[in-house]
Amino acid sequence: MGLLTEGSPLSWEETKKLSEHVREHGIIQFLNLYQRLRDRQGDVLKWGDEVEYVIVKFDHEKKEAKLSLRAKDVLDALQIKEKQDPTGVKSLWRPEYGAYMIEGTPGVPYGGLMAHFNIVEANMRYRRLEVQEYLNPGECVLTLTSFPRLGCDNFTDPPSKPTPNAGATRSLFFPDDAVFPGHPRFATLSRNIRERRGENVVINLPVYKDFNTKIPVDDSHLYNKSALPDCVYMDAMGFGMGCCCLQLTFQACNIEEARTLYDQLTPLCPIMLALTAASPLHRGFITDVDCRWNVISCSVDCRTEEERGLKPLKENKFVINKSRYDSIDSYLSPQGEKFNDVPLVYDQAIYDKLTSNGIDHLLAQHVAHLFIRDSVSLFSEKVHQDDENDTDHFENIQSTNWQTMRFKPPPGNSKIGWRVEFRPCEVQITDFENAAIVCFVVLLTRVILSYQLNFIIPISKVDENMQNAQKRDALRTQQFWFRKDITTQISPPEANQCCKGTSDKSHCDSFALLSVNDIINGKEGEFPGLIPLINNYLSGMDVDADTHCTIQQYLKFIQKRASGEILTTASWLRSFVTNHPHYRQDSKVTERINYDLLMTIDGIQQGEISCPELLGDIFTTKTKESIPTALTKEAC
Ligand code: GLU
Ligand code: MG
Repeated sequence: MGLLTEGSPLSWEETKKLSEHVREHGIIQFLNLYQRLRDRQGDVLKWGDEVEYVIVKFDHEKKEAKLSLRAKDVLDALQIKEKQDPTGVKSLWRPEYGAYMIEGTPGVPYGGLMAHFNIVEANMRYRRLEVQEYLNPGECVLTLTSFPRLGCDNFTDPPSKPTPNAGATRSLFFPDDAVFPGHPRFATLSRNIRERRGENVVINLPVYKDFNTKIPVDDSHLYNKSALPDCVYMDAMGFGMGCCCLQLTFQACNIEEARTLYDQLTPLCPIMLALTAASPLHRGFITDVDCRWNVISCSVDCRTEEERGLKPLKENKFVINKSRYDSIDSYLSPQGEKFNDVPLVYDQAIYDKLTSNGIDHLLAQHVAHLFIRDSVSLFSEKVHQDDENDTDHFENIQSTNWQTMRFKPPPGNSKIGWRVEFRPCEVQITDFENAAIVCFVVLLTRVILSYQLNFIIPISKVDENMQNAQKRDALRTQQFWFRKDITTQISPPEANQCCKGTSDKSHCDSFALLSVNDIINGKEGEFPGLIPLINNYLSGMDVDADTHCTIQQYLKFIQKRASGEILTTASWLRSFVTNHPHYRQDSKVTERINYDLLMTIDGIQQGEISCPELLGDIFTTKTKESIPTALTKEAC
């Protein structure tokens, strides 16, 4: 989630009073940084993944699985190597929202070499084994998007109790003890978001209605009027930010390329969300959605009633149509401009200041839009800054706009260039799957840039796709708006060749409704398919045999997921629960079902349990014994 500042957090009242100050100086800092770095050129393509993990504690006698609140201890141990020698490590570890979560990235970014695709999985494996060294007996580390019984009685180890009338979170279900205690940022955000909104956040996920499902699903509505009877009600930031994901960051060669990548990857966000869907289980229930996205969106929705359009504007300046965590609202590249079809709410004074200082319309409105938000976490030591050199106030607002894509200026005084972050994907159970997704998205960026492709569709259609992507079994049941003609005037012949028969220059801005399968694998006469495009691109590249084989395994796996030949993680989780002998067709994930599910997941990620429904025949051959071989390949 990003850690910017250390020190003492200010109260919400104090933070609120300083919100104009943060905005004003944040914009000056952005302008200074932009002026310094706008013409920065020649950075090389670099990229990296971020994986979020949970620590689970099994009680084999009672057959229970809990979230272990030991992330801080584990993290402290994991960071020792980095603190001694930050340049020589193969992995970097950071805290995340939950007291049971950690986040790991490769020690150094990957680069332009094809061979780097061959070390992604080994590095993920290395990270997992590294964590395992510091676990206690009965603990394991899992890449689980949502813990199925988060917020149920005693879901933590050691047990902890929610405090609805005291503390930062004030939830009926989620205790403050489950918030990462090693840095004040996380509890401060929870408190300030709740206080700014004026009440607890509200998350209502429709329950999956099975034969014996009771409505209302529980007695939440007796405690809070916001709880809907046929929904799983949740009331805390932890239900969202306590979920895990898989993110990617790309460094572009200059600001223009970063803006292009930002735009081109945007329409792929909902598609990748549907493909990686992995979170149908929440607070002990099977729900009717497959993804975490709206859960997190609601979990940090700090908009007041005025901002949500429920009351006339008096105290606040804007009616805002989305939470701070949601899909992006405007494109940044010239190609994207005409597809910005949703009226953008932005701060006019900030926009004027940016444009009068030489920033173009698209970038100015993007930043002025991010800056409609207040700071929700401010530290006393950081209030007064040197705007020439510091960027904390800019980063304060930027890093609490959690959108599908993030456009990132170079940090001051560093060798890092303009970057974009790709943030929609849910994390998968195995390193193999996560590596496959990462390599697929990275390859796509290469194809987009070298074939000069254009995937842009109107923002309103991306928004529609985002909602459909989260529905139960979206991969098999939903259709998504997608651009029909993806080549451009400057696309090379091999791109046009590959898209032949599907492109129609007379309707160059036309969009079709396609399934994920059509988009990934192609549809005769309609769309060439992302994997055929990648394969076409790869056929012109010099790739060593081993890397080629790895990439092909990944692409085949993605193809099978997309076609429905193997299940999405979400569908597999649903089927595990509903086929469990203890399941009573009542939509409930009991302690025992949860235990068996997580034990199975642990077995699958270790390579000890094969799971052809989820992984096909690809992974099952890759036994534990083959892992050390992969690990001997040096990280780049
Ligand atoms: N855990 C959040 C998610 O699942 C992301 C937090 C972050 O920005 O690192 O989307
Ligand atoms: Mg994170």
